[in-house]
Amino acid sequence: MANAAQVPTGFGHELRACLRCRLVKTYDQFREMGCENCTFFNMDKDHERVVDCTTPNFNGIISCMDPTKSWAARWLRISKFVPGCYTLAVSEQLSDEMQNVCEDNNVPYVPPKRI
Ligand SMILES: [Zn+2]
Repeated sequence: MANAAQVPTGFGHELRACLRCRLVKTYDQFREMGCENCTFFNMDKDHERVVDCTTPNFNGIISCMDPTKSWAARWLRISKFVPGCYTLAVSEQLSDEMQNVCEDNNVPYVPPKRI
């Protein structure tokens, strides 16, 4: 696992958030490096996974450079994730197929709460 996630290189329409850990990067960054927290999705090798596992629909971004010490990170349940930019909430769930991938890798997945 990387020490820190890539910081988004742009803040335009190409930004996407990982549906599992809510890490925010650009589409190209997910394609090149995958998700630093969810390497088992293999987005860097299977580029269709970027579309399956990330969403352009999210609200708000916080950057968190020391998740272990941040109250916001604890509140967002990202304190075990690498430092990076995260969104406060995603509105979509992982597909059943991708939830199965999480299960196969013994990785917990918490679906977003219905608001
Ligand atoms: Zn992720």
